[in-house]
Amino acid sequence: MAASHSPLWPDDCHGAVSLTFDDGLPDHLRRAVPLLDDRGLRGTFYLCPKGDNFADRLAPWRAVFEAGHEIGNHSLSHTCSRNFQPAHDPGPVGLEHTTLDEMGADLAAAEGRLQELFPCEGRSFAYPCYQSDVGEGPTRQSYVPLVAKLFVAGRTGGEYGFFNHPYNVDLHHLGGIAAERMPGTELVGLVERCVRRGHWAVFAFHSIDGGRLGINEFDFEELLDHLAENRHRICTAPVAELAKHCRALRALRGDAEASP
Ligand SMILES: [Zn+2]
Repeated sequence: MAASHSPLWPDDCHGAVSLTFDDGLPDHLRRAVPLLDDRGLRGTFYLCPKGDNFADRLAPWRAVFEAGHEIGNHSLSHTCSRNFQPAHDPGPVGLEHTTLDEMGADLAAAEGRLQELFPCEGRSFAYPCYQSDVGEGPTRQSYVPLVAKLFVAGRTGGEYGFFNHPYNVDLHHLGGIAAERMPGTELVGLVERCVRRGHWAVFAFHSIDGGRLGINEFDFEELLDHLAENRHRICTAPVAELAKHCRALRALRGDAEASP
């Protein structure tokens, strides 16, 4: 069957990719940014501006921001489920005992700090640990509406092999592909599957230097080379930029549907 190649994406590309990096790890600055820059690709780096020394700690990211990469919001406290704690350690409060008001204050504080250092209109957010609810059982509720008030998009996790539809996806609950430990051939295969569908793949990386959630640099470079060599048909851009593009597409379609 012939693939659909309608120009839904910028520069008449057939599909879109965002490369996202969580937690502001040292190897993002040391390796990921230069590898992207070498190929003229731009990513989204999700930072937590916590601590009194946040401005000093995040100062090295200023050049990354100025080079055109997106600095995304990853909350102040990086609160995840307390289920992640070892059984002998009850651990911190966790999302189960966080209220919507507390989460709203956390996100707003993080955004205030990021605006100070990396001012922009329409930043994207990554849900820590891909989790978008607070409370548990009968009190559990989504904090996606809070994210929708503050950000142009929100990235969570998602089912393997599915991507984001430019018209249909909830931009504040974008599916992400946890890229941990994937070989380059798998990353490239997922990109091509996404492009055949005309969708938007959002890869979530942690370390690109191995480790529990990491991939290795050879595999990462294989993906970047593929994206760079195929830039005429695959648009690689930060999450906020592609979210704004989807909004513009939807507005155009809305106008067309509204006209007689
Ligand atoms: Zn994180």
